[in-house]
Amino acid sequence: MPRKRREMMGQRFGKLVVIGRGEDYVHTTLHPDGSETTFRVPRWICRCDCGGTATVTQNNLVSCTTTSCGCKRRENMRRAATFRWRGENAEA
Ligand SMILES: [Zn+2]
Repeated sequence: MPRKRREMMGQRFGKLVVIGRGEDYVHTTLHPDGSETTFRVPRWICRCDCGGTATVTQNNLVSCTTTSCGCKRRENMRRAATFRWRGENAEA
């Protein structure tokens, strides 16, 4: 469905903006009877507000599981560490 794909282009999810189509994520499940089921999940190349890029599966984008190239998580960790450090010193 080309129309749906085009709708993803330019869309913003948190810090990420979709700038292109990535390779599909392909996952094949083998069943005991020898048959197999293949899932294809579209992936999108996204540009992050920090200037980085990330390739994210459509599921993770639309469910807002992934909203940055990874910098947001690092930022949060740094903020948590700083907060803890301040907290300890505030009592002194
Ligand atoms: Zn980023």
